[in-house]
Amino acid sequence: MPRRHAEHHLIGRIGWLRAAVLGANDGIISTASLMMGVAAATTSSGQIVTAGLAGLVAGAMSMAAGEYVSVSSQSDTENADLARERQELKTDRDGETAELKRIYIDRGLEPGLAQQVAEQLMAKDAIGAHARDELGISEISTARPIQAALTSAATFAAGAILPLLAAVFAPQRFVMWAIFGTALIVLAVLGAVGATTGGAGIVKPTLRVAFWGALAMAITAGAGALFGHAV
Ligand SMILES: [Zn+2]
Repeated sequence: MPRRHAEHHLIGRIGWLRAAVLGANDGIISTASLMMGVAAATTSSGQIVTAGLAGLVAGAMSMAAGEYVSVSSQSDTENADLARERQELKTDRDGETAELKRIYIDRGLEPGLAQQVAEQLMAKDAIGAHARDELGISEISTARPIQAALTSAATFAAGAILPLLAAVFAPQRFVMWAIFGTALIVLAVLGAVGATTGGAGIVKPTLRVAFWGALAMAITAGAGALFGHAV
């Protein structure tokens, strides 16, 4: 397989993996911290697990809702741009051909060749050429709100389920250590995976995510201990 083709695919995969790791990190840190807060206020495993489950579902739904809304507005913008482009192609085809030509000249083509390429691409698929080369909308970048919403909810839930299972199976007196330890280990592994796929060294990113995870859990446990006994 030619090298250029493999790189192109790898880049697409890196972007997707990074989003998945971030979603899972979110799930782990927010659900584990929530359970740590409850665990600091009560010794009932049932309440800790219920809070974790509610946190998982609420977090996944909130991620899905946020992603759906933001990607939908991106999709709305793309569709409005494409509709405007179609209109311009109908009313000013020569101007649109000249516009493409200018884009190709800016990219380094000779004017004569740029004219040829612009004419041929306009003839083959005018809106496709403008979408890709003028608006930067390609097959890969097209906004897919439902896919994005489902992916982020799934990655959040996949992250959150691990500390939740630790709370389910840990003996009551070790439940906080089980949540804390599981969350830190999984965060460190994801940090290393994220760093490796991005081609960066793994130590710093791993320590970074573990530090913030530990801090979030400790502060929430402190809040739970403080307010738990007050109410
Ligand atoms: Zn155009």
